[in-house]
Amino acid sequence: MRNSSASIARMTTTLDFPYAEPPAAGASIELSPGIHWIRMPLPFALDHINLWLIEEGEGWAVVDTGFGVEATRAIWEQHFVGTMKGKPLTRIICTHYHPDHLGNAQWLAERFATHEGPLIPEMSLLELVTAHAVAGGTGAHQKSALAAFFHSHGLTEEQIEVTANRGNTYSGGVPTRPTTCQRIFPGDTIEIGGKLWSAIVGHGHTPEHLSFYCEEARFLISGDMLLPKISTNVNVWPVTALSDPVGEYVNSLQAFKYCEDDTLVLPSHGLPFRGIKARVEALETHHEDRMNELYSAVAESPKTAADLIPTLFRRKLDNHQLFFAIAEAVAHVNHGWRAGRLTREVGPDGLIRFGLVA
Ligand SMILES: [Zn+2]
Repeated sequence: MRNSSASIARMTTTLDFPYAEPPAAGASIELSPGIHWIRMPLPFALDHINLWLIEEGEGWAVVDTGFGVEATRAIWEQHFVGTMKGKPLTRIICTHYHPDHLGNAQWLAERFATHEGPLIPEMSLLELVTAHAVAGGTGAHQKSALAAFFHSHGLTEEQIEVTANRGNTYSGGVPTRPTTCQRIFPGDTIEIGGKLWSAIVGHGHTPEHLSFYCEEARFLISGDMLLPKISTNVNVWPVTALSDPVGEYVNSLQAFKYCEDDTLVLPSHGLPFRGIKARVEALETHHEDRMNELYSAVAESPKTAADLIPTLFRRKLDNHQLFFAIAEAVAHVNHGWRAGRLTREVGPDGLIRFGLVA
């Protein structure tokens, strides 16, 4: 998940939303025979996630698992007897490592263990490795590395205290984690529910997010890479401090233009929609607009990423949102710097400032 710091992207009017309402907690909407949409709550501003249950022989496959807390698991219990008609979960597929997607993967894997042991989730290896690095706070994921990174980009000590030093919240949403996976490579074709789905890789939101496209059924399970109303959170963390996730994200979006335009996009947040190309184009325009606003904001004098948060986010941010806002602000200045539009200077005070290239 982690789109709470995302902004509203414009131009949603050209999209077609065939379902006016989401399924109620514990209920499902059958999108086509055997493909069910269910929804789980989230304990932050972005208050829900969509999951996809696909009937497969004597069992069910699920794509994404919900935030790993009791409230979600109670709703899962309803689905086990209701939506799933008492048939077991036999496959767990995850789009990426974020807590609302991976949070219950291990709990479900153990719950539906067979004589061979717990189910082994199917996902990108880079996402599984990242889950463990973040949860363990190892290497550049240590609190001290995060605090130094936030400091260099201009957050105040008080802001660092409530963001970097607030403790590891990742483990709170993913209390147990799978230690192994059945690796899905970008570009792989996998069969789910008797149909072929191709794994489309996405960068910028997380290292190796996977979306799943079924041309035959005209469905795209887009995860967090393509959302109808909010722009996906793209962020820089210390482990890849000089990276350009805005560029990575916009480049990744290009692959979706090859999906058939009558495809129903099944996003992790918001309502299913048609109009992939219009949505991709709107997001491209949105990012160009934001970059232009940012260039204007530094025209008079170089600024830190923290200085630019009010330019990029024109609303009051809570601590959870500030954590992602600074990472997203760094993503935007890095993009400008990588594109040759911004200078990047480390001042005598240790702060990194970005100015307009003359
Ligand atoms: Zn996410």
